[in-house]
Amino acid sequence: MSEAADQELAEHARKLFAGRIEFLKSAPELKFLPDPVVPEVAFAGRSNVGKSSLLNALTNRNKLARTSNTPGRTQELNFFDVGDPLQLRLVDMPGYGFAEAPKDLVKRWKHLVNDYLRGRAVLKRVLVLIDSRHGLKSPDREIMEMLDNAAVSYQLVLTKSDKVKPAALGAVYEGVADEARKHPAAHPAIFTTSSETGSGIAELRTVILEAAAS
Ligand code: GDP
Repeated sequence: MSEAADQELAEHARKLFAGRIEFLKSAPELKFLPDPVVPEVAFAGRSNVGKSSLLNALTNRNKLARTSNTPGRTQELNFFDVGDPLQLRLVDMPGYGFAEAPKDLVKRWKHLVNDYLRGRAVLKRVLVLIDSRHGLKSPDREIMEMLDNAAVSYQLVLTKSDKVKPAALGAVYEGVADEARKHPAAHPAIFTTSSETGSGIAELRTVILEAAAS
């Protein structure tokens, strides 16, 4: 893409995310999903990975996504309308990987997420968030496999990059990128973000816009 086109896309993304963004609804079951009328980009990640903070940073809102980590309260898909007129939807997927979560809750999570992933033609990409301090863990690998099996395009995004020194961040980045290359549905480009400093946030807006248009 030319530099002018890049700049135009970045400006479009900036304006879009500065404009209308509204919570639409929560879907605790598939029957409550909104009509699939616009492209969707979803966010997944282990609980406490910084998903709510990232959604808030992307949208310049403090309280769009609730930064609460109570197990059991997060078994819903939350939909947010973006744009006026409506252009795309952001989907906050329930966090996974609570060590203390009861088995039936985990089962419910898997059913809901799998059904959503498999049946949603408008779902353009899932951003799988990975804590920069920890890299990929088994719950992340599990969701990557679910996404591979559902043939949903996904992209790994490192969060909380401000918490890690550059050398360590580089090592985590390389490890994550190496592993992503082995997954058929994973996008090869890995993004690095910090909701605290704003690093990588503008770039991620552009990625979301591009994914929605794909
Ligand atoms: P969620 O459970 O994935 O929605 O995670 P939250 O967004 O609630 O974040 C979990 C914790 O990590 C909170 O204490 C946040 O303040 C903190 N956090 C989230 N993002 C960042 C970041 O980019 N940098 C730092 N330093 N802390 C962060």
